[in-house]
Amino acid sequence: PVVTRFAPSPTGYLHIGGARTALFNWLYARGRGGKFLLRIEDTDRARSTPEATEAILKGLSWLGLDWDGEPISQFARKDRHAEVARQMLAGGTAYKCFSTPEEIAAFREANPRQPFQSPWRDATDLPDALYAIRLKAPRSGETVIADEVQGEVRVANDQLDDMVLLRSDGTPTYMLAVVVDDHDMGVTHVIRGDDHLTNTARQIQIYDAMGWPRPVFAHIPLIHGEDGKKLSKRHGAVGLHEFAALGYPPAAMRNYLARLGWSHGDDELFGDAQAREWFDLGGIGRAPARLDFKKLEHVSGHHIGTMEDAAVLEALEAWMAEAGHAPLTETQSQRILGAMGALKEKAKTLPALLDQARFALVERPIAVEEKAAKSLDPVSRGMLRTLTAAVQNVSWTRDALEQAAKAVAEENGVGLGKIAGPLRAALAGTSTTPSVFDMMTALGREESLARLRDQTD
Ligand code: GLU
Repeated sequence: PVVTRFAPSPTGYLHIGGARTALFNWLYARGRGGKFLLRIEDTDRARSTPEATEAILKGLSWLGLDWDGEPISQFARKDRHAEVARQMLAGGTAYKCFSTPEEIAAFREANPRQPFQSPWRDATDLPDALYAIRLKAPRSGETVIADEVQGEVRVANDQLDDMVLLRSDGTPTYMLAVVVDDHDMGVTHVIRGDDHLTNTARQIQIYDAMGWPRPVFAHIPLIHGEDGKKLSKRHGAVGLHEFAALGYPPAAMRNYLARLGWSHGDDELFGDAQAREWFDLGGIGRAPARLDFKKLEHVSGHHIGTMEDAAVLEALEAWMAEAGHAPLTETQSQRILGAMGALKEKAKTLPALLDQARFALVERPIAVEEKAAKSLDPVSRGMLRTLTAAVQNVSWTRDALEQAAKAVAEENGVGLGKIAGPLRAALAGTSTTPSVFDMMTALGREESLARLRDQTD
């Protein structure tokens, strides 16, 4: 069975690149009935914080990526890492190195192009002093990574030093911890950023020394900005929470991120079921993907437009809570749902949808914005009065309301727009709204007529 993992270091917010790595691992596991595990790489005690771990968990949850079991703390497993280092020592695939930092620095200065060679590698007469445990790595030949994305990557073994596994203070190194954890967690596929590719040769040496089977490796190219340069703050949003704040629904974000560096023919717009079915390592490209906000808007608009009304409302309410808006009242959410068909068709983001939904939030007497107020001249008010009387007893449907409005416009010898403007102002107090008839059906007869009377009495 497939086991993947996401292994973030909790030193800051969840980067969009990390979120994409997590998504790829999640899709790969979920599409194959496998497990997706979460490991918090918190061994760097100075830089790791509980707040960062919280932010990562929150980000993954927002994105809808559920993991199996409890998150695993790498730091909590340090004794197990040390145990493996001692096992290697006992088995002869590692050795005690007594070289001091000064001696190592001196070696490097004298041999600038050469990896450090410990004089203790084959020593038999050992002092009683502090030591580090180093891997007795192969001196000749090559370490070959068969990467699912990068192809075959070869590293000459004489370019790699005997890496430290356990420091002289007894703490395990990152390289050892990652391998032991991935092995113990039963990870079958390591899918991660290609910035880790150089670590992989070293990690493979540890797998081989322990006689453990190597997982499948897939190193994915990093995400670049629109200008093709490495993604940074300059490009705008880079943290997943920033994308959430911009109001892209999680489903849209999953779709967009899946396409960042992976493709399935020409398919651009899809849901989770298809993504799970289609996602494979062969579809991951070798070139860095570019973040494209226009495309993201398009994907987002598509998802908002095709989601169930209730799901859009739910996403909107979650966004509002996060953005510090007051929760919607029952009446307000009913009104929004009433116009959702029209609202979701236009909006590319949740805040854009909320902007259009202002009519549903305001209460009487409605404050009319200056620009909208201009359309409420005496002639227009007269037309609204006629309309109010005309729709008093019609069935409250979009069609009937539109017909009534057209009739009033005709009577007055004007186009429908001349009555829609003031109607919009009276109903919403602003000019950014869905169609007036959508608003009227969403508000209902009583509320609509009351808003009209407020402007005409
Ligand atoms: N902790 C590493 C990072 O955040 C990931 C290590 C891995 O995936 O093997 O970049």
